[in-house]
Amino acid sequence: MTATRCATSCCHLALVLQDFPFSQITGAGIIAAMDLNTITAVSHPQTRSELPIWTPGDAWLAGGTWLFSEPQTHLTRLVDLTDLKWPALAITSSHLGIAATCTISQLDALACPAEWLAAPLIGQCCRAFLASFKIWKTATVGGNLCMSLPAGPMISLTSALDGVCTIWKASGGEQRIPVVEFVTGNQRNRLSAGDLLRQIDIPIAALKRRSAFRQISLAPVGRSAALLIGSLDSNGALKLTVTASTVRPIQISFPGPTDASALRAAIAEEITDDLYHTDIHGKPLWRKHMTLRLAEEIRAELLGSTSP
Ligand SMILES: Cc1cc2nc3c(=O)[nH]c(=O)nc-3n(C[C@H](O)[C@H](O)[C@H](O)COP(=O)(O)OP(=O)(O)OC[C@H]3O[C@@H](n4cnc5c(N)ncnc54)[C@H](O)[C@@H]3O)c2cc1C
Repeated sequence: MTATRCATSCCHLALVLQDFPFSQITGAGIIAAMDLNTITAVSHPQTRSELPIWTPGDAWLAGGTWLFSEPQTHLTRLVDLTDLKWPALAITSSHLGIAATCTISQLDALACPAEWLAAPLIGQCCRAFLASFKIWKTATVGGNLCMSLPAGPMISLTSALDGVCTIWKASGGEQRIPVVEFVTGNQRNRLSAGDLLRQIDIPIAALKRRSAFRQISLAPVGRSAALLIGSLDSNGALKLTVTASTVRPIQISFPGPTDASALRAAIAEEITDDLYHTDIHGKPLWRKHMTLRLAEEIRAELLGSTSP
C-alpha cells in the first residue's frame, strides 16, 4: 500500500484500538485481528462515476469500526467512502436526509427544531451503542445499517421513524427501500454485492410524533437485548417498533385505541418465537419477556393508561 493508504488504515485502526477489549491484545502488544494484511489496494472515489467496478474481495470502508475489528481474510481491496464527501445531514420541508457516511456524533449533535417531538430518540439511540464517544466519532449510520446486527441502534432509530434507504445499485440506478424492510435478519439485508447505501430519509411528519423509548441489556452499558420505540401520530395511531430482541426490526401498527391485551395478542401474532434473537447478550425467552414488558410500558406512557 502507498503511504497515504496506510495512513488511512492506521487512522481507522488507532480509533478502533482505543475501544477494543484487552483480550484482543497479544503478548507482543499487537492486535492481530485488526491487521488487514490481505488488503493490497484502497480506492478513494470522489464521485459515483469514479466508483470502481465491483470485484470479489472488495468492501466499502465507512468508519471501519467493524471492518478493522476482526480478520477479513477474504478482502483484498477497500473502497473508502470518505472522499465522496456527502453532506452528513440535510433538512428539507419534507425530510431529514442522513448520509450513509454521517457519523454517530454528527447525528447526535444535530440541533432539532422544537416541533420534532421525537427528537430525543436520536440521542437515546446514539447512546444505545455498546461503544464510547471514540467509536461515535468514526462509526457511521450507514455502516450500522449495513452491518445489520439485531442491536444496531441506528436501525432502531431509522426504522421507528419510517426511514427510507436509498441504494445505489451496482448495476446502475437507485432503489428505495423502507429501513424496516432493508434489514432481513441477523447480519442480513437487501444489499446485493457492490450495492452502496447512499442515504436514509426520515419524514418530518414522523419526527413530529410523540415517542417513547425503552432499552435493556444484561450489563449496564452492554449491547442492547431489547430496544423498543413507540410513536403516536396526531390521529392517535400507535406504531411500535421492536428491535434488538428480534433478528430483524418488526413494526406493528395499531390504528385505534389499544389496550394491554390487544397489544400482547398483536405481539404474539407478529413475533413468532423463531424471530427472537439468541446470543451471549440474552436468551430468546428473556428477550420475549422483556419485549412484552417494555411494549406495555410504552403503550401506557403514550396512551396514558395503565395495564389491568
Ligand atoms: C467497541 C465496539 C462496539 C460496538 N458496538 C456496537 C453496537 O452496540 N451495536 C452495533 O450494531 N454495532 C456495534 N459495533 C459494530 C460497528 O462498530 C457498528 O455497527 C458501526 O455502526 C459500523 O459502522 P462503520 O461506519 O464503522 O462501518 P464499517 O466497519 O466501515 O463497515 C461495516 C460493514 O458495512 C459495510 N458498509 C459500510 N458502509 C456501507 C454503505 N454505505 N453501503 C454498503 N455497505 C456499507 C462495510 O463494507 C462493512 O461490511 C461495535 C464495534 C466496536 C468496535
